[in-house]
Parts: sequence; structure tokens; C-alpha cells
Amino acid sequence: MRHGVVIVLLGGPGAGKGTQGERLSSFLGIPTISTGDMLRQECRSGSALGAQVKSLLEAGQLVKDDLISEVVAQRLAKPDCTHGCILDGFPRTAPQARFLDALLEKLDFEPPVVIDLAIAPEELVARLSSRRQCPTCNRTFQGASGLSSCPQDGTELVYRADDQPATIRRRLQIYTSNASEIVRYYQDSGSYNRVNASGLVEEVGQKVLAVLSTVSNGTQDFKPPVLVSQHLYA
Ligand code: AMP
Repeated sequence: MRHGVVIVLLGGPGAGKGTQGERLSSFLGIPTISTGDMLRQECRSGSALGAQVKSLLEAGQLVKDDLISEVVAQRLAKPDCTHGCILDGFPRTAPQARFLDALLEKLDFEPPVVIDLAIAPEELVARLSSRRQCPTCNRTFQGASGLSSCPQDGTELVYRADDQPATIRRRLQIYTSNASEIVRYYQDSGSYNRVNASGLVEEVGQKVLAVLSTVSNGTQDFKPPVLVSQHLYA
């Protein structure tokens, strides 16, 4: 029998992949895998992998396809992914997308459901410049929230090292230079869905759920969510 659904969240830095991934995760009961969070965790832990990628992360450069693909392959093979998962930040290049397709086939998953959180670059810059992150649970908060510590675990919120203006510009350039190829790749495979990600978190979340409710990718144990009530998702 095929496993559950794998959802790929595409979108530039600051598009809301982490926030929407977290909401989808609690709604669908499957984990979110954020490659950025995993790599930052490696950096904080002082592991060999962390030491290898730290300077790339701080400079806003991508780590090598082979390396990140291996990290994802190991993570997806874990038991909590049996019923599927939400990928935030992977794939980011066409070779990574091809790798993911092969990996999902090997692990007996259907091809992914892809949701592109589309948003204007100026809005991304504004969001990234003001956001802070909890280093314990990885949730992000916009400056307008006025919070200085995480409401969930009380950890002091920090600015990400790569959320500095010059690095933000580089990350956006890198994202833009890869985006059209990866979008075309998923359009060609028929798994591409685009959501306007400008607007309130709840509104965007409803649009994401609306896409999922129309998708039936043939998996046996994936029940597309039903838009019953805002409470379920808020
Ligand atoms: P994110 O938190 O998704 O913005 O990722 C932060 C950083 O982690 C990126 O700027 C890259 O340096 C690295 N990274 C995360 N995911 C990938 C990926 N799929 N491919 C290459 N580098 C990645």
C-alpha cells in the first residue's frame, strides 16, 4: 500500500512556508520538515555537518544539492513520515526536485502535491527585515507582533543571521534564479498549484486548504481536508 501524502511548499524566503507548514502539520497530523531549520540546528549543535554549512547559511548561499538531498532522504525514511510530511525549503533546485521524485518512488509515496506560496519580492523584503525566530521551537514572528519572547516556550526571539538586508537580497536573487525552472518542472508533471500568499496568515491558510481539498493524488490513506470550520485550522 502507498504511504500518505507529501506536500511541497514552494515560495521565496519569507513567503510563509514555515507558518503555513506548521498549521498544516497540526491539521493533517504529519510532520513539517524544514531543511533550513535542520541545518541551523546542525550549526548550533557544533556537528561536523554544521561546521561545513555554517558560512553558506550566513551568506545566504545554497548548500550543495547532494548534501541536502542526503539529509532529506535520511529524514523522510524516519517512522514519523510514514503517513506523509510537509517539505518546507526542499526542493530548491531542479536537481533536488528530480532527486525527491526518485526518493518518493523508492519509499513508495505518490508524487508530491506542490503548493507555491506566491508573493511580490518587495513584500518578502519587508517581512524578512522585521521577523524574528524562536531558536527552540523555530516558529517565526513578524515585528508587528511586538513579541520579544516565544509565547510557546518563553525563549528569547532572535533575528536570523541571514535576515540582514544584503543577505536577504542575495537569497531572493538565488530564489528567483531557480524558481522558474522548478515551477516549470512541477507544472510539467501536473502537480503544481499556486496560491496568492499575500495577506493574513489565516486567509492564506484557507486558500492552501482549499487547494488540498481539490487534490486527490490517489494515496490510500490521505483524506483531503474538509473545510468544516475556521476553528479547526486556526
Ligand atoms: P530557509 O530557512 O529555508 O530560508 O533556509 C536557510 C538556508 O539553509 C538557505 O539560505 C540555505 O543556505 C540552506 N538551505 C535550506 N534548504 C536548502 C536546500 N533545499 N538547498 C540548499 N540549501 C538549503
